[in-house]
Amino acid sequence: MGLGGYLTWAAAAREIYETYGVKMIPIEVHMGQSAAGDKIPLTRLVKSESFKNNPYVCQEFDGEHGLQVRLNGSSANYVEEEDFLKVVHKSDKHIIETICETVGIKNPTIKCDIFLDEKEEEKVEKILSTLPEKFITIEPHSNLEFTVNRSYPFEKWQSIVNDVLEKTDHKVVQIGTGPSLLKNVIDLRGKTSFREASAIIEASSCLVSTEGGLTHLATCTETTAVVVLTGYQAQKMVEYPSNVYVNISKHGPCGMKVSCPKCLKDAKEHDYKEVVNKVLSVIGEKEWA
Ligand SMILES: [Zn+2]
Repeated sequence: MGLGGYLTWAAAAREIYETYGVKMIPIEVHMGQSAAGDKIPLTRLVKSESFKNNPYVCQEFDGEHGLQVRLNGSSANYVEEEDFLKVVHKSDKHIIETICETVGIKNPTIKCDIFLDEKEEEKVEKILSTLPEKFITIEPHSNLEFTVNRSYPFEKWQSIVNDVLEKTDHKVVQIGTGPSLLKNVIDLRGKTSFREASAIIEASSCLVSTEGGLTHLATCTETTAVVVLTGYQAQKMVEYPSNVYVNISKHGPCGMKVSCPKCLKDAKEHDYKEVVNKVLSVIGEKEWA
């Protein structure tokens, strides 16, 4: 699971704490083998950067009771079925709702949490002191590890940057760890951890990116993310009330893990100005007719 995926578990942990007054103990169960060759279930405590310093998630067995939640169990997982080519998601509800349902919690708040420590806050303060007063954050790359079908063409991201610079008094800061740098942006790639990036997003007027870890991370802050959403997955499953979505799909959810011609076509034909208009309205500028 990616860091963004773990953030949805952090959301469930908050709901568990509010409902039951105990921490979540995140575990995974894998089948192992006994000395006699029998299959035996093995349990491990799941640790993640996304859980660090989180008061609602148990990261060490400390003698306290908590609610054990299995991260790789079929009921809490948002994946319904999966093979080499394709994944079928539980697309009728948000990931956080799917997780919370397994522990008897209905109508959770659809928002993630991250808790920086002092050292991280200090580091980010230093970086922020070098940035302009008004800026938006952008991540033009999508994580290709699981699927290539969440991406949006790099040249369209460049056009978005150009328009924002031309139409507003905002600078553009590129975050994330992507290989290519956009022109006329401030380069913060690789300068922060995923966790620290939350504070950079928080200081920005808006994040713009394709659906992924950073768009979940933005919901830990007061900053709105403008999210380009492809036909790979259903909007309902990943949609946060505090974000704004530009759904470019004319098909789907296709769940394709290998390159999908329809996802490519949707991205190629989409007018990037729709993204610019959403960004402008989020940062309070006049919409560009
Ligand atoms: Zn597709």
